[in-house]
Amino acid sequence: MSEQDEFDCVIVGAGPAGLSAALNLARSRSSVLIADSNRPRNAATLKSHGFITRDGIPPIELRGLARAELANYPEVEYLPRAVVSGVARDRDGSHPFTVEIARGTRSRVVTSRTVLLATGLREVFPDIPSLRGFYGMSVFSCVACDGYERSDQRLALIGETSDLHDRALLIARWSANLTVFTNAVAVLTASEEMNLVSRGIRLERRPIGDLEGTRGAISAVRLADGDRIPVTGGFIRPVWVSNLDFIRRADRDALTVDRFDRLSTDRDGRTSIEGLYASGDVASPGPQQLIVAAGAGARTAAIIVQDLIGVSTSH
Ligand SMILES: Cc1cc2nc3c(=O)[nH]c(=O)nc-3n(C[C@H](O)[C@H](O)[C@H](O)COP(=O)(O)OP(=O)(O)OC[C@H]3O[C@@H](n4cnc5c(N)ncnc54)[C@H](O)[C@@H]3O)c2cc1C
Repeated sequence: MSEQDEFDCVIVGAGPAGLSAALNLARSRSSVLIADSNRPRNAATLKSHGFITRDGIPPIELRGLARAELANYPEVEYLPRAVVSGVARDRDGSHPFTVEIARGTRSRVVTSRTVLLATGLREVFPDIPSLRGFYGMSVFSCVACDGYERSDQRLALIGETSDLHDRALLIARWSANLTVFTNAVAVLTASEEMNLVSRGIRLERRPIGDLEGTRGAISAVRLADGDRIPVTGGFIRPVWVSNLDFIRRADRDALTVDRFDRLSTDRDGRTSIEGLYASGDVASPGPQQLIVAAGAGARTAAIIVQDLIGVSTSH
């Protein structure tokens, strides 16, 4: 069978946002190609929480279940281990987008009426040598996702960004036994410091040497001067980066991002480029959670269908 080369929607990324959009587009009888480079951000963790009916599910299993559902729909072509290397709105007519996809040594070019960016975010961490060995096991980034299991434990919050004060107050909801590590980088204002200290949250401004522990279980933050601060769990504030280099430069320059490098869209997932949509972690406003991404994907799928027909209805 020859490969189809025209689609109603090409979806870039098969996390919960892309998979949910694909399912809902297929059920609206739209032809969909969904390509995924298989680099999910939550691959570091063994259990995902907060997705109703699936609380505690391994992230890989959640994706597998979704892919199995998509397999029931001939409208969907799913391309695993496929990197979308180019997206441009450069054609006239009914399929204005050209999408280039690299898969191993093969490359393929398709055209599409619309493109949905569901590429998630990449995380850049403070320079702490052993951090990756603990991330997803006892050190996490999302307190709503992983705070519950660490309730009332002795926790670290490590970060170098200006929102550290607010994150500390949030995490203190799960455990007030908290030390905030600025790694000698993050700047807290005098009033922020006073506020944290008045709530019993400890502050550590010295640079971090490394994390200590065994088999992914953190036991201490070791400072560069050798002092050890014992902890039993932690949260890290990564810097988030959107993965949008594959969009043609002129189009990328037309897109706007917020202060967390997430694409700005309208409330329905439309970007400033007609026919180009974004859902999930890559788009404002979050929060960064599986069920939120899946919901956003479903919502944007409904909007894509309406936009293709040229109607606007909430039912
Ligand atoms: C360690 C960790 C633990 C977490 N735990 C939880 C939890 O317990 N509960 C919860 O609700 N949330 C959790 N999250 C957050 C959750 O994983 C994200 O909010 C969610 O995965 C976002 O979904 P998404 O579809 O937007 O993006 P992602 O799931 O990140 O998927 C994006 C996909 O796009 C692909 N992609 C990117 N660029 C391209 C390209 N050019 N071509 C093709 N494919 C591309 C990537 O390979 C990836 O597979 C956790 C996150 C982390 C990092």
